[in-house]
This record gives sequence, C-alpha cells and structure tokens, in this order.
Amino acid sequence: NADSAMYHAKDAGRDNHQFFAAQMNVTAQQRLELENDLHHALQRAELFLHYQPRIDLARGRMVGVEALLRWLHPRRGVIHPGGFIALAEETGLIVRLGEWVLREVCRQILEWQRQGLPAFPVAVNLSPRQFGQRHIAERIGEILLETGVSSSLIELEITETSLMQHTEQTLGTLSRLHKMGLRLAIDDFGIGYSSLSYLKRFPVDQLKIDQSFVRDIGVDPTNAAIVAAIATLAHNLKLAVVAEGVETHEQLDAVRTAGCGQAQGFLFSRPVGAEHVPALALRRWSADAR
Ligand code: C2E
Ligand code: MG
Ligand code: MG
Ligand code: MG
Repeated sequence: NADSAMYHAKDAGRDNHQFFAAQMNVTAQQRLELENDLHHALQRAELFLHYQPRIDLARGRMVGVEALLRWLHPRRGVIHPGGFIALAEETGLIVRLGEWVLREVCRQILEWQRQGLPAFPVAVNLSPRQFGQRHIAERIGEILLETGVSSSLIELEITETSLMQHTEQTLGTLSRLHKMGLRLAIDDFGIGYSSLSYLKRFPVDQLKIDQSFVRDIGVDPTNAAIVAAIATLAHNLKLAVVAEGVETHEQLDAVRTAGCGQAQGFLFSRPVGAEHVPALALRRWSADAR
C-alpha cells in the first residue's frame, strides 16, 4: 500500500531525485494525487512541526531541539518527511515548504520566549534543492529580520551528500550564513564519502553522525571505530559531535565511550509537539538517561 511504501522510502536515500517514483511502489495516479494534495497542504494548514531534543551528555541537559516536519493528510493521516520531501524536492515545492518551516520555527521561538523559557537553538533541515538556491542565505536573512528572531538561535542542518552536490556555490553560501551568525551542522555525516579537506574549508559548527552507525554500534566493532574516528576528528577541529538515533542504554554507553559529547534519539525523547518542549528543556537526565 502506498502509505507504507512512502514511509519506508525514507530509508532508501534522500537525495536522489528519481527515487520517489522509482523506489516507491506508487502509481502515477497516486503520485499526481499526492502532489496535488501537497500543493494545498500549505494553504489548508496541514503541516506542523515536531521537536526532538539534543542532549549534552556531560550535563544531562537539553542544549537544543531539531524541528521535524509532519503533514496531517486529510485522508492518509500523519505522513513523515520520508513520504513527501522527495516529491517536494522534485516539484520545487520544497522552497515554499522550507520557508514555511523557518517562519514557523521563528514564531515558535518567540512563543517559547514569551513563556519565559531560557533560549536554546532550534535546528532546521535544509534539503539539497533548498540549499542549492542561489539566494538562500539572503532569503533566510529576510525571514529572520521580519520575525525578529536572533540568527544565533537558528541552526541549519545540511546533509553531507547535499554539501557534496553543490561544490562551487557551497563555500560562498556557508560563509554568508556563518557571517550572519547562524550555526551550521552537517547532517547524516559519514555516509556521503566527503573529502575531509572540506571540513577545513567549510565554516561548520557541528557534525551529526548518521544513525546507521549508531544502530548497531554495540555489536559491530567497525561502527564503533568509525564513530570514534569521527568524534576524534570533530574534537580536533573543535566541532561539536552529535550521535543521532540513540535508542538504547547500550548505544548511549557506546557513543559516549566513542567520544560523542551530545546525542539525540528516542532514548531521551521522540519528536514531540511544541507544548511538550518546556518540560524537556528544564529536565535533568542522569548519566544513563534514566
Ligand atoms: P534527519 O534530519 O536526520 O532527522 C532525524 C530523523 O530520525 C527523524 O526522522 C527523527 O524522527 C528520526 N529519529 C530520531 N531519533 C530516532 C531514534 O532514536 N531512532 C530512530 N529509528 N529514528 C530516530 P523524520 O522526522 O521522519 O525525518 C526524516 C528526515 O526528513 C530528516 O532526517 C530530514 O532529513 C528530513 N526532514 C525532516 N524535517 C524536514 C524539514 O522541515 N525540511 C526538510 N527539507 N527536510 C526535513
Ligand atoms: Mg520519522
Ligand atoms: Mg536533521
Ligand atoms: Mg540525520
């Protein structure tokens, strides 16, 4: 069925433009329908964000959240990004979706501020086509100016594969964003065969280790070695290193031993609605996340 095909497609690779049609077992008719629905999703206010905390392991404290997009489809129910981001990329709708996400994040930051919550950065994912727009830095700057949110509160997550795709423009875009005061993270790090010399040239602040390395880190010594190597590299380059997809205490022990200073995953919290974030922001996790 189309829903489960869409849901699983996210595992297939996020940056291949053809993958939506090819990997997913949806008919042309269903695809057209979904595309049409997605056009209306913005006007009909069917999109919403969930937030997942990122934890500093030494202090047991939330140090930020990542905004994750969801679509409440009128007939299919909640669809995760794996079911529609590739389609949005293909059709170009991603540009408007992405701007909506950033505005919504800014609105939410102001709302949390009004509630008296201490400030923390919110990470926003940029897909390859968004990041590849020539004036992306200026657009982001305009939205921050309009909403009055400080650029230091926004973190942009750009996948390693996306960075590799736009080699000429990439450095310029990253430098502009960096000068504007935004924080930059390389998402899904380790699966994109990036040239390590890019890390020296790109003004990034954070590496987020792909969850495929974390998943069986306890049983696969190769993955443990890779995570440890990335953590050492990040440490020497003075970048923060985040382990993604931490679900178990064993994984937490392993990523900590490997030298990851921060982690994110279901063990701490699933992505949740904005109303649940204040409690997470004030919470203190013990060393074993209990
Ligand atoms: P990502 O940025 O790498 O986000 C992490 C994904 O892992 C999220 O899936 C999150 O729900 C999931 N996750 C977190 N902790 C765990 C865990 O412990 N175990 C497992 N198995 N999964 C965990 P989600 O929300 O379905 O998002 C998938 C991808 O879609 C994201 O990967 C990101 O690349 C993209 N995405 C999400 N929101 C946006 C958005 O607003 N714009 C764009 N362009 N892409 C987005
Ligand atoms: Mg998901
Ligand atoms: Mg991300
Ligand atoms: Mg990731």
